[in-house]
Amino acid sequence: MTEHAVVISGAGPTGLTLAGELALAGIDVAIVERRPDQALFGTRAGGLSARTLEVFDQRGIVDRFLAAGQIAQVTGFAVTRLDISDTPTRHNYGLALRQKHIERILAGWVGELSVPIYRGRDVTSFAEDGAGVTVELSDGASLRARYLVGCDGGRSLIRKAAGIAFDGWDATSGNILAEVEMAEEPSLGVHRTALGIYAFGRDEYEIRDGKVIFASEGPIGVMVPDKNPGATAEPTLDDLKQALIAAFGTDYGIHGLKWISRFTDMSRQAAAYRKGRIFLAGDAAHVHSPVGGQGLNTGVQDAVNLGWKLARVLKGQSPDALLDTYHAERHPVGARVLRTTMAQVALQRADDRTEALRDIMMELLGMDEPRKRIAAEMSGLAIHYDLGQGHPLLGRRMPDLDLTSSDGPTRVFTLLHDARPVLLVLDDAGSFDITPWSDDVTLVHARYAGPWELPALGPVSAPSAVLIRPDGYVAWVGDGTQDGLEDAMKTWFGLQV
Ligand SMILES: Cc1cc2nc3c(=O)[nH]c(=O)nc-3n(C[C@H](O)[C@H](O)[C@H](O)COP(=O)(O)OP(=O)(O)OC[C@H]3O[C@@H](n4cnc5c(N)ncnc54)[C@H](O)[C@@H]3O)c2cc1C
Repeated sequence: MTEHAVVISGAGPTGLTLAGELALAGIDVAIVERRPDQALFGTRAGGLSARTLEVFDQRGIVDRFLAAGQIAQVTGFAVTRLDISDTPTRHNYGLALRQKHIERILAGWVGELSVPIYRGRDVTSFAEDGAGVTVELSDGASLRARYLVGCDGGRSLIRKAAGIAFDGWDATSGNILAEVEMAEEPSLGVHRTALGIYAFGRDEYEIRDGKVIFASEGPIGVMVPDKNPGATAEPTLDDLKQALIAAFGTDYGIHGLKWISRFTDMSRQAAAYRKGRIFLAGDAAHVHSPVGGQGLNTGVQDAVNLGWKLARVLKGQSPDALLDTYHAERHPVGARVLRTTMAQVALQRADDRTEALRDIMMELLGMDEPRKRIAAEMSGLAIHYDLGQGHPLLGRRMPDLDLTSSDGPTRVFTLLHDARPVLLVLDDAGSFDITPWSDDVTLVHARYAGPWELPALGPVSAPSAVLIRPDGYVAWVGDGTQDGLEDAMKTWFGLQV
């Protein structure tokens, strides 16, 4: 039986990110993936949020995504786009990039880190014992691991087999998505009709002056409302025809179906993200409507939260209790994502009263304060893990400051490339003795003269030092003394003085 420290079920965006995080930390990790290769059929996520771009910047791979996608103000809330260009982040925008490209780039990174992927086979069952998990595959092989992580999507076998409840709300609305040929080209773009939202587009597009300009040739992507959002059977070309005729009086000579799928606003969340040696991340832990574009982004950020924690516990550097903080921190984030998507679905309904509510929301989001708050939430920049009372930075993402260190200019995110904890000392105190931790924590003395500003919160006071976790969140803030540093070190990094 082949052994790995961690086995991940599913090489979607979540599983690939987690594998990269673990491999960076030197952990023997393998993925089992049903698909024979990384090709992805059908349309799924359309881009990356500002925080996800920051997270990839923390690992030195953001340029790969930026080079492949289009930078634009694509952050949105239900009915409106939110301009985040005044948000204090280097990535004060979203990136339009289809999921197939996101996965291709992540798979390339994971390949460079030599993560084995057992492709073309399923995880079919597993058995957990005191020392680990035995994972059975559909080709008859077995793997042995200390931990098993279900990154296997909304229908997660791992979640079901672990007996983890997936409570929430059934679908109230849905859409059919397809790629087709059309004899007559409809007006490309989004159409709000009395019957719901319709959209036509092409796989290739450019964003010019904030407007999506689709390629002039090629198959057409169609999205129509689904009359049967609870249906389990595959939708058909005839369903598409009927939906088009109902709204536009024509089916545009639709033919040549390339693929067809449906999605709904079903919203559910796993009751536990951890059960013993089993973890859930990404869609396996939370599903909701795609409106607002938070699914993939939330999954990637689940993975970045879990990766360093699993690595430290596996290396014996931190106690097992560190792993419980994964649920404690990420479950509330997932619950908020469900809340924002449900609110957006409600705002998309096609009736006069919802139209009136939408108008009021548009007015509110036209004001600076609400726009900044909702934009920070939708772009993942507002995430705040509850690490107790203290400086506003505590539990929030560390900004990517331009620093001057004795080695010359650098950036905070550059210091996080190898996913180690960083103690950043910003005054001249110079008295931090981290000798007992020096193998494990990077100590950096640097100067920073610029402003301290956090998304949605605004200016905050300058700290004298910060302890930054490998996922980029602040674990301790110094105010000229080292009070609380030792406790933070023990809590997060299990290190003794
Ligand atoms: C129409 C649509 C639009 C969307 N738009 C956005 C958007 O704009 N922004 C955004 O952030 N999100 C969006 N999403 C959501 C996004 O696609 C998902 O949240 C994302 O794919 C979740 O990634 P994941 O890795 O957790 O799961 P998945 O992408 O579902 O990956 C799971 C993987 O596990 C594999 N697998 C499953 N079962 C097994 C098994 N038993 N053994 C082995 N392998 C298995 C699957 O083959 C798959 O590769 C959209 C979704 C849809 C449907």
